[in-house]
Amino acid sequence: MFIIGLTGGIGSGKSSAANILKELGLKIIELDQITHNIMMAGEPGYIEILKKFGDKYIDKNNVLDRKLLRDDIFSSIELKKRIESTLHPIIFEECEKQLNKLRNEKYIALIIPLLFETKNYINLINESLLIDCDVKYQLKRVIKRDGVSKALAIKIIENQMSRDEKLLLADKVILNDGNIDNLGTQLKKYLSLIHISEPTRPY
Ligand code: ADP
Repeated sequence: MFIIGLTGGIGSGKSSAANILKELGLKIIELDQITHNIMMAGEPGYIEILKKFGDKYIDKNNVLDRKLLRDDIFSSIELKKRIESTLHPIIFEECEKQLNKLRNEKYIALIIPLLFETKNYINLINESLLIDCDVKYQLKRVIKRDGVSKALAIKIIENQMSRDEKLLLADKVILNDGNIDNLGTQLKKYLSLIHISEPTRPY
Protein backbone atom coordinates (compact mmCIF):
# COMPACT_ATOMS: atom_id res chain seq x y z
CA MET A 1 0.00 0.00 0.00
CA PHE A 2 1.41 3.36 -1.04
CA ILE A 3 -0.25 6.31 0.69
CA ILE A 4 -0.17 9.69 -0.99
CA GLY A 5 -0.71 12.54 1.47
CA LEU A 6 -2.48 15.11 -0.67
CA THR A 7 -2.44 18.59 0.78
CA GLY A 8 -2.64 22.29 -0.10
CA GLY A 9 -4.10 25.57 1.07
CA ILE A 10 -7.78 26.42 0.92
CA GLY A 11 -9.00 26.63 -2.68
CA SER A 12 -5.75 25.26 -4.10
CA GLY A 13 -7.61 22.34 -5.68
CA LYS A 14 -7.33 19.41 -3.23
CA SER A 15 -10.93 18.25 -3.70
CA SER A 16 -10.68 18.69 -7.46
CA ALA A 17 -7.47 16.63 -7.47
CA ALA A 18 -9.10 14.01 -5.23
CA ASN A 19 -12.05 13.70 -7.63
CA ILE A 20 -9.70 13.19 -10.56
CA LEU A 21 -7.68 10.58 -8.66
CA LYS A 22 -10.95 8.79 -7.81
CA GLU A 23 -11.88 8.76 -11.50
CA LEU A 24 -8.43 7.32 -12.20
CA GLY A 25 -9.26 4.44 -9.87
CA LEU A 26 -7.57 5.40 -6.61
CA LYS A 27 -9.27 4.96 -3.27
CA ILE A 28 -9.62 8.26 -1.43
CA ILE A 29 -9.84 9.04 2.27
CA GLU A 30 -10.74 12.64 3.11
CA LEU A 31 -10.01 13.94 6.58
CA ASP A 32 -12.64 16.69 6.19
CA GLN A 33 -15.22 13.99 5.50
CA ILE A 34 -14.11 12.00 8.55
CA THR A 35 -14.33 15.16 10.66
CA HIS A 36 -17.83 15.78 9.34
CA ASN A 37 -18.94 12.19 9.98
CA ILE A 38 -17.67 11.91 13.55
CA MET A 39 -19.68 15.01 14.46
CA MET A 40 -23.01 13.50 13.44
CA ALA A 41 -25.45 12.87 16.30
CA GLY A 42 -24.33 9.88 18.35
CA GLU A 43 -20.91 9.61 16.70
CA PRO A 44 -17.68 9.76 18.79
CA GLY A 45 -16.83 13.45 18.09
CA TYR A 46 -20.36 14.55 18.92
CA ILE A 47 -20.31 12.55 22.15
CA GLU A 48 -16.95 14.06 23.24
CA ILE A 49 -18.17 17.62 22.52
CA LEU A 50 -21.28 16.90 24.56
CA LYS A 51 -19.15 15.52 27.42
CA LYS A 52 -16.78 18.51 27.46
CA PHE A 53 -19.15 21.41 26.74
CA GLY A 54 -22.57 20.14 27.75
CA ASP A 55 -25.32 21.00 25.29
CA LYS A 56 -23.89 24.44 24.40
CA TYR A 57 -23.15 23.30 20.82
CA ILE A 58 -26.16 21.01 20.41
CA ASP A 59 -29.25 22.59 18.85
CA LYS A 60 -32.89 21.83 19.64
CA ASN A 61 -32.95 19.01 17.08
CA ASN A 62 -30.02 17.31 18.86
CA VAL A 63 -27.76 18.21 15.96
CA LEU A 64 -24.34 19.79 16.42
CA ASP A 65 -24.51 23.55 15.81
CA ARG A 66 -21.51 23.64 13.47
CA LYS A 67 -21.88 27.35 12.76
CA LEU A 68 -21.81 28.36 16.44
CA LEU A 69 -18.85 26.06 17.02
CA ARG A 70 -17.00 27.49 13.99
CA ASP A 71 -17.70 31.07 15.07
CA ASP A 72 -16.50 30.42 18.64
CA ILE A 73 -13.39 28.63 17.41
CA PHE A 74 -12.63 31.54 15.10
CA SER A 75 -12.74 34.00 17.99
CA SER A 76 -10.90 31.95 20.64
CA ILE A 77 -7.52 30.29 20.18
CA GLU A 78 -7.98 28.61 23.56
CA LEU A 79 -11.22 26.98 22.46
CA LYS A 80 -9.68 26.04 19.11
CA LYS A 81 -6.93 24.16 20.95
CA ARG A 82 -9.40 22.41 23.27
CA ILE A 83 -11.61 21.30 20.39
CA GLU A 84 -8.63 20.16 18.34
CA SER A 85 -7.16 18.12 21.18
CA THR A 86 -10.58 16.55 21.68
CA LEU A 87 -11.20 15.67 18.04
CA HIS A 88 -7.75 14.94 16.62
CA PRO A 89 -7.30 11.53 18.29
CA ILE A 90 -10.79 10.46 17.15
CA ILE A 91 -10.13 11.59 13.57
CA PHE A 92 -6.74 9.85 13.55
CA GLU A 93 -8.23 6.60 14.83
CA GLU A 94 -10.99 6.67 12.22
CA CYS A 95 -8.42 7.38 9.51
CA GLU A 96 -6.38 4.36 10.60
CA LYS A 97 -9.53 2.21 10.56
CA GLN A 98 -10.33 3.29 7.01
CA LEU A 99 -6.74 2.69 5.89
CA ASN A 100 -6.85 -0.75 7.42
CA LYS A 101 -9.97 -1.59 5.42
CA LEU A 102 -8.15 -0.56 2.24
CA ARG A 103 -4.89 -2.33 3.05
CA ASN A 104 -5.06 -4.46 -0.11
CA GLU A 105 -5.13 -1.40 -2.37
CA LYS A 106 -1.91 -0.52 -4.15
CA TYR A 107 -2.37 3.26 -3.95
CA ILE A 108 -4.46 5.41 -1.64
CA ALA A 109 -4.81 9.18 -1.57
CA LEU A 110 -5.29 10.63 1.87
CA ILE A 111 -6.55 14.21 1.65
CA ILE A 112 -5.09 16.08 4.61
CA PRO A 113 -5.55 19.87 4.48
CA LEU A 114 -3.26 20.45 7.51
CA LEU A 115 -0.65 17.78 6.75
CA PHE A 116 2.34 20.02 7.49
CA GLU A 117 0.70 21.93 10.32
CA THR A 118 -0.42 18.99 12.48
CA LYS A 119 2.43 16.60 11.65
CA ASN A 120 0.41 13.62 13.00
CA TYR A 121 0.00 12.15 9.55
CA ILE A 122 3.53 12.52 8.22
CA ASN A 123 4.51 9.07 9.49
CA LEU A 124 1.39 7.52 8.04
CA ILE A 125 2.00 8.55 4.44
CA ASN A 126 4.62 7.47 1.91
CA GLU A 127 4.94 10.86 0.34
CA SER A 128 3.28 14.25 0.36
CA LEU A 129 1.80 15.74 -2.78
CA LEU A 130 1.18 19.47 -2.56
CA ILE A 131 -1.48 21.00 -4.78
CA ASP A 132 -0.01 24.45 -5.15
CA CYS A 133 -1.51 27.51 -6.72
CA ASP A 134 -0.82 31.21 -7.09
CA VAL A 135 -2.54 33.21 -4.35
CA LYS A 136 -4.44 35.26 -6.94
CA TYR A 137 -6.15 32.09 -8.26
CA GLN A 138 -6.64 30.78 -4.73
CA LEU A 139 -8.44 34.01 -3.81
CA LYS A 140 -10.61 33.97 -6.92
CA ARG A 141 -11.61 30.32 -6.38
CA VAL A 142 -12.39 30.70 -2.68
CA ILE A 143 -14.46 33.85 -3.24
CA LYS A 144 -16.45 32.13 -5.99
CA ARG A 145 -16.86 28.73 -4.30
CA ASP A 146 -17.62 29.93 -0.75
CA GLY A 147 -19.32 33.22 -1.58
CA VAL A 148 -17.09 35.10 0.87
CA SER A 149 -15.72 38.63 0.62
CA LYS A 150 -12.23 39.24 -0.68
CA ALA A 151 -11.22 40.55 2.78
CA LEU A 152 -12.36 37.34 4.50
CA ALA A 153 -10.72 35.13 1.86
CA ILE A 154 -7.43 37.03 2.39
CA LYS A 155 -7.76 36.61 6.17
CA ILE A 156 -8.36 32.84 5.87
CA ILE A 157 -5.40 32.40 3.50
CA GLU A 158 -3.11 34.53 5.68
CA ASN A 159 -4.02 32.38 8.70
CA GLN A 160 -2.75 29.27 6.94
CA MET A 161 0.85 28.12 6.54
CA SER A 162 2.41 30.13 3.74
CA ARG A 163 2.80 28.82 0.23
CA ASP A 164 6.61 29.05 0.48
CA GLU A 165 6.75 26.98 3.67
CA LYS A 166 4.54 24.29 2.13
CA LEU A 167 6.68 24.22 -1.01
CA LEU A 168 9.76 23.59 1.14
CA LEU A 169 8.13 20.70 2.98
CA ALA A 170 6.40 18.89 0.12
CA ASP A 171 7.88 15.77 -1.49
CA LYS A 172 6.05 16.39 -4.78
CA VAL A 173 4.26 19.47 -6.11
CA ILE A 174 1.58 20.01 -8.72
CA LEU A 175 0.96 23.59 -9.79
CA ASN A 176 -2.78 24.05 -10.30
CA ASP A 177 -2.66 27.36 -12.16
CA GLY A 178 -4.11 26.06 -15.42
CA ASN A 179 -7.54 24.60 -16.12
CA ILE A 180 -8.98 21.37 -14.70
CA ASP A 181 -7.83 19.36 -17.72
CA ASN A 182 -4.31 20.52 -17.04
CA LEU A 183 -4.62 19.39 -13.41
CA GLY A 184 -5.77 15.98 -14.71
CA THR A 185 -2.82 15.71 -17.09
CA GLN A 186 -0.38 16.50 -14.29
CA LEU A 187 -1.99 13.98 -11.94
CA LYS A 188 -1.81 11.25 -14.59
CA LYS A 189 1.86 12.04 -15.10
CA TYR A 190 2.44 11.97 -11.34
CA LEU A 191 0.81 8.53 -11.10
CA SER A 192 2.79 7.20 -14.03
CA LEU A 193 6.03 8.11 -12.24
CA ILE A 194 5.03 7.12 -8.72
CA HIS A 195 6.41 3.59 -8.98
CA ILE A 196 9.92 4.99 -9.06
CA SER A 197 9.33 6.77 -5.72
CA GLU A 198 10.25 5.25 -2.37
CA PRO A 199 9.45 1.59 -1.84
CA THR A 200 6.04 0.90 -0.34
CA ARG A 201 6.04 0.97 3.44
CA PRO A 202 4.32 -1.92 5.15
CA TYR A 203 1.31 -0.55 6.97
P1 ADP B 1 -9.71 22.82 -2.00
O1 ADP B 1 -10.31 21.45 -1.86
O2 ADP B 1 -8.20 22.80 -2.01
O3 ADP B 1 -10.26 23.84 -1.04
P2 ADP B 1 -11.19 22.85 -4.51
O4 ADP B 1 -10.72 21.65 -5.25
O5 ADP B 1 -12.53 22.79 -3.86
O6 ADP B 1 -10.08 23.36 -3.47
O7 ADP B 1 -11.12 24.08 -5.54
C1 ADP B 1 -11.62 25.35 -5.16
C2 ADP B 1 -12.54 25.85 -6.26
O8 ADP B 1 -11.76 26.12 -7.41
C3 ADP B 1 -13.61 24.84 -6.65
O9 ADP B 1 -14.78 25.53 -6.95
C4 ADP B 1 -13.01 24.20 -7.90
O10 ADP B 1 -14.02 23.77 -8.79
C5 ADP B 1 -12.19 25.34 -8.49
N1 ADP B 1 -10.98 24.88 -9.17
C6 ADP B 1 -10.04 24.03 -8.72
N2 ADP B 1 -9.05 23.86 -9.62
C7 ADP B 1 -9.38 24.62 -10.68
C8 ADP B 1 -8.77 24.87 -11.95
N3 ADP B 1 -7.61 24.32 -12.28
N4 ADP B 1 -9.40 25.69 -12.79
C9 ADP B 1 -10.57 26.28 -12.45
N5 ADP B 1 -11.21 26.10 -11.28
C10 ADP B 1 -10.62 25.28 -10.40
